[in-house]
Amino acid sequence: MRIGQGWDTHRLEKGYKLVIGGEEIPSEKGCIAHSDGDALAHAVTDAVLGAAAAGDIGTHFPDNKAEWKNADSIKILAEAVKIAENTGFKLINIDSTVILEKPKLKQYITAMRTNIAEAAGLSVKDVSVKAKTGEGMGDIGAGNAIAAQAAVLMEKI
Ligand code: MG
Repeated sequence: MRIGQGWDTHRLEKGYKLVIGGEEIPSEKGCIAHSDGDALAHAVTDAVLGAAAAGDIGTHFPDNKAEWKNADSIKILAEAVKIAENTGFKLINIDSTVILEKPKLKQYITAMRTNIAEAAGLSVKDVSVKAKTGEGMGDIGAGNAIAAQAAVLMEKI
């Protein structure tokens, strides 16, 4: 068995889309990023690559490549799962946390879990997405940033 962890953060500004776990969420502010800025998908991707000790998201999907401009990060996650499988590991489960001041994410959690499960080849019951706020503290608490964390378990195929 192998464990992997991932973390990501993005700056939030007015006039950008907010995509989390493959869901576009109505919001005053969104992510400034080369891809779609999906911090949750990026954290899960890094956790998957980390469990396989197969590098990181920046190595495989560099943000200076036109190929990944405005990329759908759920597709990047699916690619990372393939990379990990090629090193001889398959996913067992994913646990993750999104830290965002607003909007509240409760109504989008099931859709995010479904998107991630489909990309990762898992059943929805094996994918957890939790939501927290920054309790009004720091850049996240001021609504100027989003962060996401993920942990995954993989086993040798
Ligand atoms: Mg990112």
